Amino acid sequence: MAADATLPPASAPQAGDRLCAARGFLLDLDGTVFLGDRLIEGAARFLELLDAQQKPYLFITNNSSKDRRLYAEKLRSLGLDVPAEQVFTSGEAAALFLARTRPGARLFLAGTPSLEAEFAQHGFALQADSPEAVVLGYDTTLTYAKLSRLCRLVRAGLPYFATHPDINCPTPEGPVPDIGSTIAFVRASTSREPDLIFGKPNREMVEMAALRLGLAPGELAVAGDRLYTDIALGNRAGIPAVLVLSGETQPGDLAGSPYRPDYVFNHLGEAAGWLQACPPAAAGSHPARP
Ligand SMILES: [Mg+2]
Repeated sequence: MAADATLPPASAPQAGDRLCAARGFLLDLDGTVFLGDRLIEGAARFLELLDAQQKPYLFITNNSSKDRRLYAEKLRSLGLDVPAEQVFTSGEAAALFLARTRPGARLFLAGTPSLEAEFAQHGFALQADSPEAVVLGYDTTLTYAKLSRLCRLVRAGLPYFATHPDINCPTPEGPVPDIGSTIAFVRASTSREPDLIFGKPNREMVEMAALRLGLAPGELAVAGDRLYTDIALGNRAGIPAVLVLSGETQPGDLAGSPYRPDYVFNHLGEAAGWLQACPPAAAGSHPARP
């Protein structure tokens, strides 16, 4: 198949278009909104359009080591006025999920101070002598003492959760070990995998983000530049998945991918053009907002 065959037709969206019907959006950051220190073409226009159409959105990231305020500051430095609450991390998804399923539980958390603060805000006791469950984050403050205790508790059979699956984290100096490398360490020591991993591409990321937006998961669409995280997330959650070719994925990668974007645009500016062209029937096909 020619790579271009997967690109959407240049014609305008038709009535019933799934992207037009989406009531909220989940947006990847790196490669989608910015690339390094550069805002990607049309990203500001896309966000202005979502604001004008009253479609709420969250920026989603798997990095559970950083405070969401750092992302908001970066977006502001690029000229986007974004409150920190609009950044949704895998750490918040994990905290939200566990707050619903194990409210107030005593946890052993291997994470950065900002992840500890996230869990404390969600009502968890983190300094307990007898934890009831174990949560692993992308812990850039990890020590041998933490790893040893983590493995001891996992080996003892405590419920074991991880905020996301990434094996490496890209940096300007090259990849550095992310949480997936720690999961592999724990597996080598205990022969156990996490009972549940949050973050992209796992559907709990969509379910918890929907909860935050006050929408149903099925009312959302996701846009991102990576097939195996962003597009896989959309596929697993059954929501429209928009691939932008402004980051990692090249058009030629699509043919061999098990993950199928529902829409492919060169950048968010093209996605804005699509949304602007939505027929009134599609735009008015969902019930009025309460
Ligand atoms: Mg990306």
